[in-house]
Amino acid sequence: MQQVYDLAIIGGGINGCGIARDAAGRGYSVLLCEMDDLAAGTSSRSTKLIHGGLRYLEQLDFRLVREALTEREVLWRIAPHIVRPLRFVLPYRAGLRPAWMLRLGLFLYDHLGGRQRLPGTRVINLGTDAVGPPLRPGTFTTAFEYSDCWVDDARLVVLNARDAADRGTVVCTRTKALSAERGTESWRLVLIDGASGREETVAARTIVNAAGPWVEDVLQAGLGLKARGHVRLVQGSHIVTRKLFEHDRAYILQNPDGRVVFAIPYENDFTLIGTTDRDYAGDPGAVTATAEEVAYLCETASASFAQPIAPADVVWAYSGVRPLFDDGASEAKIASRDYVLEMDAGESAAPVLSVIGGKITTYRRLAEAALGRLAPHLEPREGLAAGWTAREPLPGGNFDPDDAMSLSRQLQRRYPFLTERHAQRLVRAYGTRAATILGSARSLDDLGRPFGATLSEAEVRHLVDNEWARTADDVVWRRSKLGLRLSQEQIGVLDDWMRRNMPDAQSSADRTRA
Ligand SMILES: Cc1cc2nc3c(=O)[nH]c(=O)nc-3n(C[C@H](O)[C@H](O)[C@H](O)COP(=O)(O)OP(=O)(O)OC[C@H]3O[C@@H](n4cnc5c(N)ncnc54)[C@H](O)[C@@H]3O)c2cc1C
Repeated sequence: MQQVYDLAIIGGGINGCGIARDAAGRGYSVLLCEMDDLAAGTSSRSTKLIHGGLRYLEQLDFRLVREALTEREVLWRIAPHIVRPLRFVLPYRAGLRPAWMLRLGLFLYDHLGGRQRLPGTRVINLGTDAVGPPLRPGTFTTAFEYSDCWVDDARLVVLNARDAADRGTVVCTRTKALSAERGTESWRLVLIDGASGREETVAARTIVNAAGPWVEDVLQAGLGLKARGHVRLVQGSHIVTRKLFEHDRAYILQNPDGRVVFAIPYENDFTLIGTTDRDYAGDPGAVTATAEEVAYLCETASASFAQPIAPADVVWAYSGVRPLFDDGASEAKIASRDYVLEMDAGESAAPVLSVIGGKITTYRRLAEAALGRLAPHLEPREGLAAGWTAREPLPGGNFDPDDAMSLSRQLQRRYPFLTERHAQRLVRAYGTRAATILGSARSLDDLGRPFGATLSEAEVRHLVDNEWARTADDVVWRRSKLGLRLSQEQIGVLDDWMRRNMPDAQSSADRTRA
Protein backbone atom coordinates (compact mmCIF):
# COMPACT_ATOMS: atom_id res chain seq x y z
CA MET A 1 0.00 0.00 0.00
CA GLN A 2 1.31 3.47 -0.85
CA GLN A 3 2.52 5.55 2.08
CA VAL A 4 0.38 8.58 2.89
CA TYR A 5 2.61 11.30 4.35
CA ASP A 6 1.20 13.56 7.03
CA LEU A 7 2.80 16.57 5.33
CA ALA A 8 4.13 17.13 1.82
CA ILE A 9 6.13 20.35 1.86
CA ILE A 10 6.79 22.25 -1.36
CA GLY A 11 9.92 24.40 -1.10
CA GLY A 12 13.33 23.85 0.47
CA GLY A 13 13.95 27.38 1.72
CA ILE A 14 14.16 28.28 5.38
CA ASN A 15 10.40 28.06 5.90
CA GLY A 16 9.91 24.68 4.22
CA CYS A 17 12.95 23.15 5.97
CA GLY A 18 12.03 24.71 9.32
CA ILE A 19 8.51 23.28 9.13
CA ALA A 20 9.88 19.88 8.05
CA ARG A 21 12.24 19.75 11.02
CA ASP A 22 9.60 20.72 13.56
CA ALA A 23 7.01 18.33 12.09
CA ALA A 24 9.42 15.38 11.95
CA GLY A 25 10.41 15.93 15.57
CA ARG A 26 6.75 15.85 16.57
CA GLY A 27 6.46 12.41 14.96
CA TYR A 28 4.71 13.34 11.70
CA SER A 29 5.75 11.68 8.46
CA VAL A 30 7.08 14.32 6.09
CA LEU A 31 8.22 14.62 2.48
CA LEU A 32 9.90 17.83 1.29
CA CYS A 33 10.52 18.62 -2.36
CA GLU A 34 12.72 21.43 -3.65
CA MET A 35 12.88 22.13 -7.39
CA ASP A 36 16.45 23.43 -7.26
CA ASP A 37 19.07 23.24 -4.51
CA LEU A 38 18.16 23.79 -0.86
CA ALA A 39 18.21 27.56 -0.17
CA ALA A 40 18.59 28.35 -3.88
CA GLY A 41 15.67 30.80 -3.61
CA THR A 42 15.47 33.79 -1.28
CA SER A 43 16.97 31.99 1.71
CA SER A 44 20.59 32.28 0.53
CA ARG A 45 20.19 35.87 -0.63
CA SER A 46 19.39 37.72 2.58
CA THR A 47 21.44 40.25 4.58
CA LYS A 48 22.07 37.31 6.94
CA LEU A 49 20.91 39.03 10.10
CA ILE A 50 19.03 37.50 12.97
CA HIS A 51 17.59 40.80 14.02
CA GLY A 52 14.60 42.43 15.61
CA GLY A 53 14.55 44.96 12.80
CA LEU A 54 15.13 48.39 14.30
CA ARG A 55 13.43 49.88 11.26
CA TYR A 56 10.20 47.95 11.83
CA LEU A 57 9.72 49.89 15.09
CA GLU A 58 9.08 52.95 12.92
CA GLN A 59 6.23 51.00 11.34
CA LEU A 60 4.98 50.11 14.86
CA ASP A 61 5.35 46.40 14.03
CA PHE A 62 5.80 45.55 17.74
CA ARG A 63 4.60 41.92 17.47
CA LEU A 64 7.17 41.14 14.78
CA VAL A 65 9.98 43.00 16.55
CA ARG A 66 9.34 41.31 19.91
CA GLU A 67 9.22 37.83 18.37
CA ALA A 68 12.31 38.48 16.24
CA LEU A 69 14.32 39.94 19.13
CA THR A 70 13.57 36.90 21.27
CA GLU A 71 14.64 34.54 18.48
CA ARG A 72 18.15 36.03 18.39
CA GLU A 73 19.32 34.26 21.54
CA VAL A 74 17.29 31.11 20.79
CA LEU A 75 18.96 30.63 17.39
CA TRP A 76 22.39 31.55 18.76
CA ARG A 77 21.95 28.83 21.40
CA ILE A 78 20.83 26.06 19.01
CA ALA A 79 23.30 26.91 16.24
CA PRO A 80 26.34 28.68 17.75
CA HIS A 81 28.55 27.57 14.84
CA ILE A 82 26.57 29.46 12.19
CA VAL A 83 24.98 32.19 14.34
CA ARG A 84 27.02 34.75 16.23
CA PRO A 85 26.45 38.07 17.97
CA LEU A 86 27.31 41.19 16.03
CA ARG A 87 27.52 44.78 17.30
CA PHE A 88 26.01 47.44 15.04
CA VAL A 89 27.20 51.04 14.92
CA LEU A 90 24.51 53.55 14.01
CA PRO A 91 26.15 56.94 13.38
CA TYR A 92 23.99 59.91 14.27
CA ARG A 93 23.56 62.22 11.32
CA ALA A 94 22.16 65.74 11.71
CA GLY A 95 19.10 66.35 9.54
CA LEU A 96 18.06 62.69 9.45
CA ARG A 97 16.36 60.78 12.31
CA PRO A 98 16.66 62.90 15.49
CA ALA A 99 18.81 61.60 18.37
CA TRP A 100 15.79 61.27 20.72
CA MET A 101 14.12 58.94 18.19
CA LEU A 102 17.21 56.74 17.91
CA ARG A 103 17.52 56.61 21.71
CA LEU A 104 13.85 55.67 22.12
CA GLY A 105 14.02 53.03 19.39
CA LEU A 106 17.12 51.45 20.92
CA PHE A 107 15.65 51.58 24.42
CA LEU A 108 12.65 49.59 23.13
CA TYR A 109 15.00 47.30 21.21
CA ASP A 110 16.94 46.54 24.40
CA HIS A 111 13.84 45.87 26.47
CA LEU A 112 11.15 44.40 24.22
CA GLY A 113 12.46 40.91 23.64
CA GLY A 114 14.02 38.64 26.28
CA ARG A 115 17.64 39.82 25.94
CA GLN A 116 19.84 37.88 28.38
CA ARG A 117 23.31 37.34 26.96
CA LEU A 118 23.59 39.97 24.24
CA PRO A 119 25.00 43.28 25.51
CA GLY A 120 22.74 46.35 25.45
CA THR A 121 23.04 49.70 23.69
CA ARG A 122 25.79 52.23 24.38
CA VAL A 123 26.68 55.64 23.02
CA ILE A 124 30.12 55.95 21.46
CA ASN A 125 32.38 58.86 20.72
CA LEU A 126 33.56 58.42 17.15
CA GLY A 127 36.57 60.62 17.87
CA THR A 128 38.06 58.01 20.19
CA ASP A 129 36.56 54.65 19.19
CA ALA A 130 38.08 52.37 16.52
CA VAL A 131 34.83 52.52 14.52
CA GLY A 132 35.34 56.28 13.93
CA PRO A 133 38.31 56.43 11.49
CA PRO A 134 36.69 54.40 8.65
CA LEU A 135 33.87 56.97 8.54
CA ARG A 136 33.94 60.10 6.43
CA PRO A 137 35.79 62.84 8.35
CA GLY A 138 33.66 65.72 9.61
CA THR A 139 30.34 63.96 8.98
CA PHE A 140 29.72 62.17 12.29
CA THR A 141 30.74 62.70 15.90
CA THR A 142 28.52 60.31 17.86
CA ALA A 143 27.06 56.86 17.24
CA PHE A 144 24.87 54.34 19.02
CA GLU A 145 26.04 50.77 19.27
CA TYR A 146 23.61 47.86 19.77
CA SER A 147 23.43 44.07 19.42
CA ASP A 148 21.91 41.72 16.88
CA CYS A 149 23.16 38.43 15.42
CA TRP A 150 24.63 37.25 12.14
CA VAL A 151 23.73 33.92 10.49
CA ASP A 152 24.95 31.86 7.58
CA ASP A 153 21.48 31.79 6.01
CA ALA A 154 22.03 28.99 3.47
CA ARG A 155 23.64 26.73 6.06
CA LEU A 156 20.76 27.36 8.46
CA VAL A 157 18.45 25.95 5.77
CA VAL A 158 20.62 22.90 5.11
CA LEU A 159 21.05 22.12 8.80
CA ASN A 160 17.28 22.23 9.29
CA ALA A 161 16.91 19.85 6.33
CA ARG A 162 19.65 17.57 7.72
CA ASP A 163 17.99 17.39 11.12
CA ALA A 164 14.57 16.84 9.52
CA ALA A 165 16.03 13.97 7.46
CA ASP A 166 17.72 12.50 10.54
CA ARG A 167 14.26 12.47 12.11
CA GLY A 168 12.72 10.65 9.14
CA THR A 169 11.85 13.34 6.58
CA VAL A 170 12.27 12.37 2.93
CA VAL A 171 14.13 15.29 1.32
CA CYS A 172 14.06 15.40 -2.50
CA THR A 173 16.11 18.16 -4.06
CA ARG A 174 16.00 19.01 -7.78
CA THR A 175 12.42 17.75 -7.62
CA LYS A 176 9.57 20.02 -8.63
CA ALA A 177 5.97 19.77 -7.45
CA LEU A 178 4.20 19.76 -10.78
CA SER A 179 0.52 19.28 -10.08
CA ALA A 180 -1.83 17.85 -7.49
CA GLU A 181 -5.18 16.19 -7.24
CA ARG A 182 -7.21 16.97 -4.17
CA GLY A 183 -9.18 14.24 -2.41
CA THR A 184 -11.37 14.41 0.67
CA GLU A 185 -8.75 12.83 2.92
CA SER A 186 -5.50 13.37 1.07
CA TRP A 187 -3.68 14.92 -1.87
CA ARG A 188 -1.99 13.11 -4.73
CA LEU A 189 1.01 15.24 -5.60
CA VAL A 190 2.95 14.75 -8.83
CA LEU A 191 6.71 15.36 -8.53
CA ILE A 192 9.19 15.53 -11.37
CA ASP A 193 12.88 14.77 -11.03
CA GLY A 194 14.76 17.59 -12.74
CA ALA A 195 17.66 15.38 -13.85
CA SER A 196 15.89 12.30 -15.20
CA GLY A 197 12.50 13.81 -16.03
CA ARG A 198 10.91 10.91 -14.16
CA GLU A 199 7.51 11.61 -12.61
CA GLU A 200 6.35 10.17 -9.32
CA THR A 201 3.08 10.55 -7.45
CA VAL A 202 3.05 10.77 -3.66
CA ALA A 203 0.08 10.94 -1.30
CA ALA A 204 -0.16 13.33 1.64
CA ARG A 205 -2.87 14.32 4.11
CA THR A 206 -1.81 17.97 4.00
CA ILE A 207 0.28 20.15 1.72
CA VAL A 208 2.45 23.00 2.92
CA ASN A 209 3.12 25.50 0.17
CA ALA A 210 6.40 27.09 1.26
CA ALA A 211 7.49 28.09 -2.23
CA GLY A 212 8.55 31.62 -1.20
CA PRO A 213 8.29 33.99 -4.18
CA TRP A 214 6.67 31.16 -6.18
CA VAL A 215 3.89 30.63 -3.59
CA GLU A 216 1.10 31.89 -5.86
CA ASP A 217 2.40 29.98 -8.92
CA VAL A 218 2.29 26.79 -6.89
CA LEU A 219 -1.25 27.54 -5.72
CA GLN A 220 -2.53 28.32 -9.20
CA ALA A 221 -0.51 26.30 -11.66
CA GLY A 222 0.44 23.46 -9.30
CA LEU A 223 -2.56 22.93 -7.06
CA GLY A 224 -5.23 24.40 -9.32
CA LEU A 225 -6.48 26.82 -6.65
CA LYS A 226 -7.19 30.50 -6.92
CA ALA A 227 -4.43 32.76 -5.59
CA ARG A 228 -5.77 35.64 -3.53
CA GLY A 229 -3.22 38.11 -4.84
CA HIS A 230 -1.74 38.70 -1.40
CA VAL A 231 1.91 38.41 -2.35
CA ARG A 232 4.09 41.41 -3.11
CA LEU A 233 7.47 40.59 -4.61
CA VAL A 234 10.18 43.02 -3.52
CA GLN A 235 13.72 42.74 -4.88
CA GLY A 236 16.73 43.36 -2.66
CA SER A 237 20.36 43.37 -3.76
CA HIS A 238 23.72 43.30 -2.01
CA ILE A 239 27.28 44.02 -3.05
CA VAL A 240 30.50 42.58 -1.62
CA THR A 241 33.80 44.51 -1.65
CA ARG A 242 37.27 43.86 -0.24
CA LYS A 243 37.05 44.80 3.40
CA LEU A 244 36.48 48.48 4.05
CA PHE A 245 37.46 48.39 7.74
CA GLU A 246 39.52 46.21 10.08
CA HIS A 247 37.33 45.94 13.21
CA ASP A 248 34.62 43.33 13.71
CA ARG A 249 31.57 45.58 14.10
CA ALA A 250 28.95 46.39 11.44
CA TYR A 251 27.56 49.78 10.44
CA ILE A 252 23.95 50.68 9.88
CA LEU A 253 23.99 53.73 7.66
CA GLN A 254 21.09 56.13 7.26
CA ASN A 255 20.39 57.34 3.76
CA PRO A 256 18.67 60.66 3.06
CA ASP A 257 15.85 58.71 1.30
CA GLY A 258 14.86 57.34 4.74
CA ARG A 259 16.24 53.85 4.10
CA VAL A 260 19.05 52.22 6.03
CA VAL A 261 21.89 50.23 4.48
CA PHE A 262 24.13 47.78 6.34
CA ALA A 263 27.89 47.43 5.90
CA ILE A 264 28.87 44.15 7.55
CA PRO A 265 32.23 42.41 8.03
CA TYR A 266 31.95 39.35 5.80
CA GLU A 267 33.94 36.13 5.44
CA ASN A 268 37.03 37.65 7.14
CA ASP A 269 38.33 39.64 4.19
CA PHE A 270 35.24 41.31 2.76
CA THR A 271 32.45 43.81 3.49
CA LEU A 272 28.83 43.04 2.64
CA ILE A 273 26.70 46.08 1.77
CA GLY A 274 22.93 46.02 1.34
CA THR A 275 20.16 46.15 0.66
CA THR A 276 17.80 47.78 -1.82
CA ASP A 277 13.97 47.57 -1.95
CA ARG A 278 12.10 47.68 -5.25
CA ASP A 279 8.95 46.02 -6.52
CA TYR A 280 9.69 43.06 -8.77
CA ALA A 281 7.56 41.54 -11.51
CA GLY A 282 9.74 38.99 -13.35
CA ASP A 283 10.71 35.38 -12.74
CA PRO A 284 12.08 35.17 -9.18
CA GLY A 285 14.66 32.64 -10.37
CA ALA A 286 16.16 35.15 -12.81
CA VAL A 287 16.64 38.09 -10.45
CA THR A 288 20.03 39.83 -10.60
CA ALA A 289 21.44 43.00 -9.08
CA THR A 290 20.95 45.85 -11.56
CA ALA A 291 23.61 48.44 -12.38
CA GLU A 292 21.33 51.04 -10.81
CA GLU A 293 21.15 49.12 -7.52
CA VAL A 294 24.91 48.59 -7.45
CA ALA A 295 25.43 52.33 -8.04
CA TYR A 296 22.92 53.19 -5.26
CA LEU A 297 24.72 50.94 -2.75
CA CYS A 298 28.12 52.35 -3.74
CA GLU A 299 26.83 55.92 -3.35
CA THR A 300 25.25 55.21 0.03
CA ALA A 301 28.46 53.65 1.33
CA SER A 302 30.60 56.42 -0.15
CA ALA A 303 28.49 59.09 1.57
CA SER A 304 29.43 57.58 4.94
CA PHE A 305 32.88 56.02 4.55
CA ALA A 306 36.19 57.84 4.31
CA GLN A 307 37.18 55.61 1.41
CA PRO A 308 34.59 55.94 -1.39
CA ILE A 309 33.69 52.83 -3.38
CA ALA A 310 32.73 52.45 -7.03
CA PRO A 311 31.12 49.60 -9.02
CA ALA A 312 34.64 48.52 -10.06
CA ASP A 313 35.34 47.66 -6.38
CA VAL A 314 32.48 45.15 -6.26
CA VAL A 315 33.82 41.59 -6.20
CA TRP A 316 30.40 39.92 -6.01
CA ALA A 317 26.78 40.99 -6.07
CA TYR A 318 23.64 39.00 -5.42
CA SER A 319 19.95 39.66 -5.46
CA GLY A 320 16.87 38.05 -3.94
CA VAL A 321 13.11 38.47 -3.97
CA ARG A 322 11.18 38.97 -0.74
CA PRO A 323 7.79 37.29 -0.92
CA LEU A 324 5.96 39.79 1.29
CA PHE A 325 2.35 39.78 2.41
CA ASP A 326 0.75 42.67 0.54
CA ASP A 327 -0.55 44.96 3.26
CA GLY A 328 -1.30 47.73 0.79
CA ALA A 329 1.74 49.82 1.79
CA SER A 330 2.55 52.39 -0.86
CA GLU A 331 6.32 51.90 -0.89
CA ALA A 332 8.20 48.59 -1.05
CA LYS A 333 10.48 49.64 1.83
CA ILE A 334 7.55 49.95 4.29
CA ALA A 335 5.64 46.78 3.32
CA SER A 336 5.38 44.58 6.44
CA ARG A 337 7.97 41.85 6.95
CA ASP A 338 5.59 39.84 9.14
CA TYR A 339 4.29 36.45 7.97
CA VAL A 340 0.79 35.26 7.19
CA LEU A 341 -0.38 31.64 6.95
CA GLU A 342 -3.28 31.12 4.56
CA MET A 343 -5.20 27.88 5.07
CA ASP A 344 -7.43 26.45 2.37
CA ALA A 345 -9.47 23.61 3.89
CA GLY A 346 -13.04 22.56 3.45
CA GLU A 347 -15.37 20.03 5.09
CA SER A 348 -14.51 17.45 2.47
CA ALA A 349 -11.19 18.59 1.03
CA ALA A 350 -7.65 17.88 2.17
CA PRO A 351 -6.03 21.11 3.40
CA VAL A 352 -3.19 23.21 1.99
CA LEU A 353 -1.38 25.82 4.04
CA SER A 354 0.44 28.60 2.18
CA VAL A 355 3.26 30.56 3.79
CA ILE A 356 3.48 34.23 2.82
CA GLY A 357 6.19 36.60 3.99
CA GLY A 358 8.37 36.07 7.04
CA LYS A 359 12.04 36.46 7.84
CA ILE A 360 14.93 34.07 8.31
CA THR A 361 14.90 35.32 11.92
CA THR A 362 11.36 34.14 12.64
CA TYR A 363 11.35 30.85 10.68
CA ARG A 364 11.21 28.70 13.81
CA ARG A 365 8.20 30.55 15.21
CA LEU A 366 6.57 30.45 11.78
CA ALA A 367 7.04 26.66 11.75
CA GLU A 368 5.39 26.39 15.17
CA ALA A 369 2.47 28.50 14.00
CA ALA A 370 2.13 26.42 10.81
CA LEU A 371 1.98 23.18 12.77
CA GLY A 372 -0.54 24.73 15.13
CA ARG A 373 -2.77 25.36 12.11
CA LEU A 374 -2.25 21.88 10.65
CA ALA A 375 -2.60 19.87 13.88
CA PRO A 376 -6.45 19.74 13.82
CA HIS A 377 -6.24 18.10 10.38
CA LEU A 378 -3.75 15.40 11.42
CA GLU A 379 -3.82 12.33 13.66
CA PRO A 380 -1.82 12.92 16.86
CA ARG A 381 1.60 11.23 16.67
CA GLU A 382 4.10 10.23 19.29
CA GLY A 383 6.91 12.73 19.26
CA LEU A 384 8.38 15.78 20.92
CA ALA A 385 6.04 18.47 22.25
CA ALA A 386 5.53 21.83 20.55
CA GLY A 387 8.41 24.17 21.34
CA TRP A 388 11.13 21.50 21.11
CA THR A 389 13.01 23.28 18.33
CA ALA A 390 13.98 26.07 20.74
CA ARG A 391 15.99 23.60 22.81
CA GLU A 392 17.46 20.92 20.54
CA PRO A 393 20.65 22.06 18.80
CA LEU A 394 20.91 21.90 15.03
CA PRO A 395 23.50 19.41 13.68
CA GLY A 396 26.96 20.39 14.91
CA GLY A 397 25.54 23.03 17.26
CA ASN A 398 25.84 21.02 20.47
CA PHE A 399 28.39 23.25 22.23
CA ASP A 400 28.33 26.34 24.39
CA PRO A 401 28.21 29.52 22.28
CA ASP A 402 31.17 30.89 24.27
CA ASP A 403 33.31 27.89 23.29
CA ALA A 404 33.52 28.42 19.51
CA MET A 405 37.16 29.54 19.66
CA SER A 406 38.23 26.71 21.91
CA LEU A 407 36.45 24.22 19.63
CA SER A 408 38.53 25.47 16.75
CA ARG A 409 41.75 25.26 18.85
CA GLN A 410 40.84 21.68 19.83
CA LEU A 411 40.38 20.81 16.16
CA GLN A 412 43.80 22.27 15.37
CA ARG A 413 45.40 20.29 18.21
CA ARG A 414 43.85 17.09 16.89
CA TYR A 415 44.70 17.92 13.27
CA PRO A 416 47.94 19.96 13.52
CA PHE A 417 48.20 20.22 9.73
CA LEU A 418 45.23 22.65 9.69
CA THR A 419 45.99 26.35 9.68
CA GLU A 420 44.09 28.48 12.20
CA ARG A 421 41.90 29.87 9.40
CA HIS A 422 41.10 26.44 8.01
CA ALA A 423 40.15 25.11 11.46
CA GLN A 424 38.00 28.18 12.13
CA ARG A 425 36.25 27.88 8.81
CA LEU A 426 35.40 24.23 9.43
CA VAL A 427 34.12 24.93 12.96
CA ARG A 428 32.01 27.87 11.76
CA ALA A 429 30.44 25.71 9.09
CA TYR A 430 30.14 22.31 10.76
CA GLY A 431 30.58 22.91 14.51
CA THR A 432 31.17 19.68 16.40
CA ARG A 433 30.74 17.73 13.15
CA ALA A 434 33.91 19.19 11.61
CA ALA A 435 35.90 16.17 12.81
CA THR A 436 33.66 13.79 10.84
CA ILE A 437 35.02 15.36 7.64
CA LEU A 438 38.62 15.04 8.75
CA GLY A 439 38.28 11.48 10.13
CA SER A 440 41.65 9.81 10.62
CA ALA A 441 43.57 12.23 8.37
CA ARG A 442 47.15 12.96 9.41
CA SER A 443 48.03 15.37 6.66
CA LEU A 444 46.31 17.56 4.09
CA ASP A 445 47.12 14.89 1.50
CA ASP A 446 44.89 12.46 3.41
CA LEU A 447 41.93 14.76 2.67
CA GLY A 448 42.18 13.89 -1.03
CA ARG A 449 42.27 16.24 -3.94
CA PRO A 450 42.60 19.94 -3.04
CA PHE A 451 40.35 22.37 -4.95
CA GLY A 452 41.85 25.60 -3.60
CA ALA A 453 40.99 27.90 -0.69
CA THR A 454 41.20 24.94 1.77
CA LEU A 455 38.39 23.04 0.04
CA SER A 456 39.25 19.33 -0.05
CA GLU A 457 37.81 16.23 -1.64
CA ALA A 458 36.86 14.97 1.85
CA GLU A 459 34.74 18.06 2.44
CA VAL A 460 33.08 17.87 -0.98
CA ARG A 461 32.25 14.21 -0.41
CA HIS A 462 30.77 15.09 2.97
CA LEU A 463 28.61 17.78 1.35
CA VAL A 464 27.37 15.39 -1.32
CA ASP A 465 26.69 12.54 1.11
CA ASN A 466 25.16 14.55 3.95
CA GLU A 467 24.04 17.92 2.65
CA TRP A 468 22.49 17.28 -0.78
CA ALA A 469 25.25 19.19 -2.67
CA ARG A 470 25.05 18.25 -6.35
CA THR A 471 27.02 20.90 -8.25
CA ALA A 472 30.04 23.13 -7.72
CA ASP A 473 27.68 26.08 -7.24
CA ASP A 474 25.95 24.29 -4.36
CA VAL A 475 29.36 23.80 -2.73
CA VAL A 476 30.95 27.21 -3.30
CA TRP A 477 27.93 29.53 -3.02
CA ARG A 478 25.52 27.86 -0.58
CA ARG A 479 27.26 25.22 1.60
CA SER A 480 30.16 27.68 1.81
CA LYS A 481 31.13 31.07 0.36
CA LEU A 482 34.41 29.79 -1.04
CA GLY A 483 33.29 31.16 -4.40
CA LEU A 484 34.68 34.48 -3.14
CA ARG A 485 38.17 32.97 -3.01
CA LEU A 486 38.18 30.50 -5.90
CA SER A 487 38.72 31.54 -9.51
CA GLN A 488 36.18 30.67 -12.23
CA GLU A 489 38.71 28.16 -13.47
CA GLN A 490 38.98 26.45 -10.07
CA ILE A 491 35.18 26.30 -9.79
CA GLY A 492 35.06 24.75 -13.28
CA VAL A 493 37.60 22.11 -12.22
CA LEU A 494 35.49 21.28 -9.15
CA ASP A 495 32.35 21.01 -11.27
CA ASP A 496 34.06 18.66 -13.72
CA TRP A 497 35.45 16.57 -10.92
CA MET A 498 32.00 16.27 -9.30
CA ARG A 499 30.47 15.18 -12.62
CA ARG A 500 33.12 12.57 -13.27
CA ASN A 501 33.64 11.22 -9.77
CA MET A 502 30.18 11.48 -8.34
CA PRO A 503 27.69 10.89 -11.14
CA ASP A 504 24.96 10.61 -8.49
CA ALA A 505 25.74 14.15 -7.55
CA GLN A 506 24.10 15.40 -10.72
CA SER A 507 20.77 13.66 -10.24
CA SER A 508 18.12 14.03 -7.57
CA ALA A 509 18.17 12.67 -4.10
CA ASP A 510 16.92 9.09 -4.20
CA ARG A 511 19.90 8.08 -2.13
CA THR A 512 18.99 10.45 0.69
CA ARG A 513 15.54 8.91 0.98
CA ALA A 514 17.05 5.81 2.56
C1 LIG B 1 17.44 41.20 0.03
C2 LIG B 1 16.88 40.45 1.18
C3 LIG B 1 17.41 40.60 2.45
C4 LIG B 1 16.89 39.91 3.52
N1 LIG B 1 17.49 40.00 4.73
C5 LIG B 1 17.02 39.31 5.77
C6 LIG B 1 17.71 39.34 7.01
O1 LIG B 1 18.77 39.94 7.15
N2 LIG B 1 17.18 38.66 8.04
C7 LIG B 1 16.03 37.95 7.92
O2 LIG B 1 15.58 37.40 8.92
N3 LIG B 1 15.36 37.87 6.75
C8 LIG B 1 15.85 38.52 5.67
N4 LIG B 1 15.23 38.43 4.46
C9 LIG B 1 13.99 37.65 4.34
C10 LIG B 1 14.26 36.16 4.15
O3 LIG B 1 15.38 35.95 3.34
C11 LIG B 1 13.04 35.49 3.52
O4 LIG B 1 11.88 35.83 4.22
C12 LIG B 1 13.14 33.97 3.54
O5 LIG B 1 14.38 33.55 3.02
C13 LIG B 1 12.00 33.34 2.75
O6 LIG B 1 12.16 31.95 2.84
P1 LIG B 1 11.15 30.96 2.11
O7 LIG B 1 11.50 29.60 2.56
O8 LIG B 1 9.76 31.41 2.34
O9 LIG B 1 11.43 31.18 0.55
P2 LIG B 1 12.63 30.63 -0.38
O10 LIG B 1 13.92 30.64 0.32
O11 LIG B 1 12.55 31.36 -1.66
O12 LIG B 1 12.24 29.12 -0.60
C14 LIG B 1 11.22 28.71 -1.47
C15 LIG B 1 11.72 27.53 -2.27
O13 LIG B 1 10.64 26.93 -2.97
C16 LIG B 1 11.17 26.34 -4.13
N5 LIG B 1 10.07 26.08 -5.05
C17 LIG B 1 9.29 26.97 -5.69
N6 LIG B 1 8.36 26.36 -6.44
C18 LIG B 1 8.55 25.02 -6.27
C19 LIG B 1 7.90 23.85 -6.79
N7 LIG B 1 6.88 23.93 -7.66
N8 LIG B 1 8.37 22.64 -6.40
C20 LIG B 1 9.42 22.52 -5.55
N9 LIG B 1 10.06 23.60 -5.04
C21 LIG B 1 9.64 24.83 -5.39
C22 LIG B 1 12.18 27.38 -4.62
O14 LIG B 1 13.15 26.83 -5.47
C23 LIG B 1 12.76 27.90 -3.31
O15 LIG B 1 14.00 27.30 -2.99
C24 LIG B 1 15.76 39.07 3.34
C25 LIG B 1 15.22 38.90 2.06
C26 LIG B 1 15.79 39.56 0.98
C27 LIG B 1 15.27 39.32 -0.39
